[in-house]
Amino acid sequence: MIYPASGTGAWEAALVNTLSPGDRVLCFETGHFATLWQQLAGRLGLDVELVPGDWRHGVDPAQVAERLGDDREHAIKAVMVVHNETSTGVTSRIPEIRAAVDEAAHPALLLVDTISSLGSVDYRHDEWGVDVTVAGSQKGLMLPPGLSFNAVSDKALAAARTARMPRSYWSWEPVLEANRAGSFPHTPATNLLFGLRESLRMLHEEGLSAVFARHQRHAEATRTAVRGWGLEVLCADEREHSPALTAVVMPEGHDADELRERILQRYDMSLGAGLGKLAGTVFRIGHLGHFNDLTLAGTLAGVQLGLSTSGVPIAPGGLTAALERLEAE
Ligand SMILES: *Cc1c(COP(=O)(O)O)cnc(C)c1O
Repeated sequence: MIYPASGTGAWEAALVNTLSPGDRVLCFETGHFATLWQQLAGRLGLDVELVPGDWRHGVDPAQVAERLGDDREHAIKAVMVVHNETSTGVTSRIPEIRAAVDEAAHPALLLVDTISSLGSVDYRHDEWGVDVTVAGSQKGLMLPPGLSFNAVSDKALAAARTARMPRSYWSWEPVLEANRAGSFPHTPATNLLFGLRESLRMLHEEGLSAVFARHQRHAEATRTAVRGWGLEVLCADEREHSPALTAVVMPEGHDADELRERILQRYDMSLGAGLGKLAGTVFRIGHLGHFNDLTLAGTLAGVQLGLSTSGVPIAPGGLTAALERLEAE
């Protein structure tokens, strides 16, 4: 399903098509976007069971198995996971989470937000057994904002037939019906659809595995720089570093937003802010979408210049170490 909407619209569509008022959903506090999606679920009248988190880890598959294992009555109707937490630079391990749902032999639907991963991070809707995948145009797909997507399994389609949540604009049924005739039930965002065709061409010309490897390599080089500066990467699990972006912890006593402002003013480069409870304490380096070795080198040079001219105590070798990492292959 393709909606003329930002990602938030496709979040809502995933819930209202598959669930009924009062249904329980299992959510994980992995960061700002997981928090927003869970709040949206609460406002729709769903019963949110929230597993707290420290914003440095992804969803723990063992906790999924435990919560679902405890739910003998099958009150939980859906598990909501953000694949790539854009606020923290942590990527959850969807295949292990799927295995945890299966291990608990629980019928809950698996709903996954791939808004900042699709097109930059390996993701397999069918192979990984996801029921609804939520995506958006403006991140890994390299487009302006304004298109968002639901990819749905047969199981999710079956759930939609009995789900009682009120829905109209977001309803899958009229979209599917109009799509069968090559059309849409409302005016499609035609300009963005032409853009999407070109984005998909670009991704396939390079080859998806090459695209994913490119982002992995840039993420590794970014972490090499951060560690070379003597700073800390926010993501605390080696298995969960995001290929799409890296969140960096500011040293005690230094404000991340002042650094970002200085880099914007002096070097005309905009870094991601710390969101929600990370405001002021982290900044984020994006390496998703249309990105190459020189864009990364320029980005890291800008960060290094910004840090040193702001008086943030760093070791000098970060950029050089990252360039050496890029030379390696
Ligand atoms: C950007 C983002 C969203 C929000 O999408 P909007 O297009 O701003 O509505 C949701 N989830 C994730 C992971 C995101 O990165």
